[in-house]
Amino acid sequence: MSEKTAAEQLKEQLFLKRKNGRLTSDEAVLNKAQEYCEGYKDFLNCAKTEREAVKAAVKAAEEKGFKKFEYGKTYAAGDKVYINNRGKTLALAVIGKQPVENGVNITAAHIDSPRLDLKPNPLYEDVDLALFKTHYYGGIKKYQWTAVPLALHGVCVLKDGTVKEVSVGEKDNEPKFVINDLLPHLASEQVKRTLNEGIKGEELNVLIGSHPFKDDKGSELVKLNILKLLNEKYGVTEEDFLSAELEMVPAAKSCDIGFDRSLIGSYGQDDRVCAYPALTAVLEVENPENTALAILTDKEEIGSCGNTGLESDFLRFVIGDLAKMQNGDPTVALRRSRCLSADVNAGMDPTFQDVMERRNASLLNYGVVVTKYTGARGKSGTSDASAEYVAEIRSMLDKEGIVWQTGELGKVDIGGGGTVAMFIANMGVDVVDLGVPVLSMHAPFETTAKFDIYMCYRAMYEFMK
Ligand code: MN
Ligand code: MN
Repeated sequence: MSEKTAAEQLKEQLFLKRKNGRLTSDEAVLNKAQEYCEGYKDFLNCAKTEREAVKAAVKAAEEKGFKKFEYGKTYAAGDKVYINNRGKTLALAVIGKQPVENGVNITAAHIDSPRLDLKPNPLYEDVDLALFKTHYYGGIKKYQWTAVPLALHGVCVLKDGTVKEVSVGEKDNEPKFVINDLLPHLASEQVKRTLNEGIKGEELNVLIGSHPFKDDKGSELVKLNILKLLNEKYGVTEEDFLSAELEMVPAAKSCDIGFDRSLIGSYGQDDRVCAYPALTAVLEVENPENTALAILTDKEEIGSCGNTGLESDFLRFVIGDLAKMQNGDPTVALRRSRCLSADVNAGMDPTFQDVMERRNASLLNYGVVVTKYTGARGKSGTSDASAEYVAEIRSMLDKEGIVWQTGELGKVDIGGGGTVAMFIANMGVDVVDLGVPVLSMHAPFETTAKFDIYMCYRAMYEFMK
C-alpha cells in the first residue's frame, strides 16, 4: 500500500464527503433496507388515499398498544396515544419522561398525494358512453394520467349520515377505469399544444361504462344503468356525489424496480415514502426522554390548507392538550419543540440533469436528504432552518451512523416548491426538512431507492427515541 500524499490526507480531513451508501454500508444494513421496504410496499398498496393511510396507521398503532387520546385523562411516561382528526390527519404520541412543556420531538409527513378528484356533479353520458368529470388535486402533469388504468377510492356520505366506503379497481378481478387520449393519427393539432395543455383539465374525463339500461325509450340510458349499479351497491343517487370525496388514483401496485431490486416504483410515494418511516419509527419508540410525536397530515399537496392541513391549529392543539394534561404551558411546549419535516426532495435524474445544480442536488442511494430550505426564487415560501438547528441534526445523524446528504429543489430560478416545514416553524418550533429523494415526483408512478427509505426510517427513530 502506498502512503497517502499530504494533499490526499488534507482532503480527507477537510472536504465534504458524499458517497453512494450502497458502497459504504455493510451487507447487514443493505439486507435490513431490503426487508424494511417489503412492509413499505404493502403500506403503499393499502393506503392510496389519506383516509386509507390513517386507517392503516391506526390499526398498526393499536396493535402496538396505542390508545385513543381522551381529553381530561392524564397519561404517564411511556404511554402511547393517538388523535385522529376527521379520519384524514393523525397524531401519534409516546409520552416522555420529561414534562411535555420541556418540548416535543415531532416528525411530520403528509399522506395526501396528487390525484384526480370527482367533481360534485361528475356523472354524464356522451355518444353512448358514461364518464366522470374530475378536478385534479395537487401539481400534476395532466398528460401522464391518460391511458393508464385507474381505481376509485373514497367515501360517499348519504343524507342520513351513513358513510359508504368505495374502493373499486384494486383487486385483480375488479374493473378499472381509464381516461382516453387521442390517437396519434388524428393528433396533428393536439401535438402543437404546449406540454402543459397537451391534455387540458376539462379533458380529464374518466370512462366508467357503456352498457345502456335495457329500455326502448328515453335518453341517457348508459348513465342510468351506471346509477342503477351504484344505487344497488352503495345506496346512492346522483345527488349524493355532492357529499362525497371520491378520488381516482392509479390502479397499479407498488413493485421493485431494476434487475438488482434496489428501487421501488409506486403511486403516492410523495409523501408515503416519509410517512411510513415516521409511522414505523414512532411505533418502535419506548419510554423516550422527551415526548415523541409523529404527525401524518392531509392537504399538503394543495397548500396545507383546511382543518386537516398543517396550516390549521391541529398540531398546536395536540401539543397544547398534551401539555395541559400535565398543567404545562402549551406555548412554552411549542417553543421548546423540535421537528423533522419529513418530505421528499427531487433526486437527480440522469436524463434531466440540467434542471439541477450538481453540487446541491440529491442522488439516489446517497442516503436521507437534509434540505435546509425549499421555496422558489429568492427563498420565497420557506422556513429557512437555523444553522444551530441543522448542526444539531447533522450531529445526530453522524453519531448514529445514518447516511445523509444535502439537497436543494433544483437550480435557482428554475422552479421550486414547499413543504409543511414553514407552517410548523410559524408555531415557534425548530424545523428542518429531511426525507427521501424521488424520481418522477408527482407522476402516477414514482421511483425511490430502498437504501434511502431505510435511512429515513433510522433518522426518524433516532430523532424521536
Ligand atoms: Mn411532499
Ligand atoms: Mn408533493
